[in-house]
Amino acid sequence: MKVVVLVKCVPDSQLARSLVAPKWNMKRCDVSEIVSELDEYALEEALRLAETHSGSVTAVTVGPARAVKAVETALQRGAESGVHIMDDALAGSDVVATAVVLSAAVRRLCPDVVIAGMASTDSGTSLVPSMIAEMLGWPLLGCVDEVLTDGSVLRVRRERDHGLEVLEASMPVIVTVTDRASEPRFPSFRTILAAKRKTIHSWSLSDLGICSSEVGWDAARTSVESAVERPSRGAGHIEKDEGHGGIRLAEFLLERNLL
Ligand SMILES: Cc1cc2nc3c(=O)[nH]c(=O)nc-3n(C[C@H](O)[C@H](O)[C@H](O)COP(=O)(O)OP(=O)(O)OC[C@H]3O[C@@H](n4cnc5c(N)ncnc54)[C@H](O)[C@@H]3O)c2cc1C
Repeated sequence: MKVVVLVKCVPDSQLARSLVAPKWNMKRCDVSEIVSELDEYALEEALRLAETHSGSVTAVTVGPARAVKAVETALQRGAESGVHIMDDALAGSDVVATAVVLSAAVRRLCPDVVIAGMASTDSGTSLVPSMIAEMLGWPLLGCVDEVLTDGSVLRVRRERDHGLEVLEASMPVIVTVTDRASEPRFPSFRTILAAKRKTIHSWSLSDLGICSSEVGWDAARTSVESAVERPSRGAGHIEKDEGHGGIRLAEFLLERNLL
């Protein structure tokens, strides 16, 4: 079984992030970047699927030179090969352009299953996987907690407010996973060393038959009109408990209509 996992390199959400005028894109230089959190769960499901069905995992990312880190991380955890799609014309690409590029890469790789995170931890639109499914005409199974299969059909389990659902779709199929999926594994010394011998293919837009006018700032269907910094949080209020702490807490909540 051929599995493709989509891994996005994002600024570390634990660190301060800022937007840069005039286009209000996220400042990415000088910021530590990591694999988007849910993509680690997507990778784990991809590896488990490939291990159970004697398959292979290819990790794919779209982004500038430093984004290759996402693919390297996937190779260290056990993916067999990687694809880094990089092209100067991609700067400023919106969600549609990103999906155009990723769907062309998936078409070229011909996998049985594509696994992605439910949302990235930076832009977080949750739109890219469904757009890829639409562009390829493939089914999409979204917000999945566990991926199962008996060979020809992909079956998934997901927890909803009303209970547990089991869904299935024929392959090829796209799946997005939540953080209720299996805990991502840590790389071992052996897999880190093995990753150095694995291949990362670098593809440009022309390798994928995509014209530069389809991507980048000029092709973006949306723009950010303005952005302001989130106001810093005010100092908290400390109430010393001198025997009436519970009453003061209840009064505090009542004053704010929280009870
Ligand atoms: C006008 C405009 C300009 C923009 N300019 C820039 C820019 O200059 N630089 C920039 O970095 N972003 C830019 N963005 C944001 C960029 O378009 C989005 O980050 C990108 O489309 C992915 O969307 P998302 O993060 O919401 O993905 P989601 O749909 O939330 O992601 C879901 C999953 O899809 C997969 N995925 C998403 N993106 C990628 C990727 N790149 N590679 C591999 N897998 C992926 C991952 O598995 C991810 O978990 C711009 C957006 C707009 C609207």
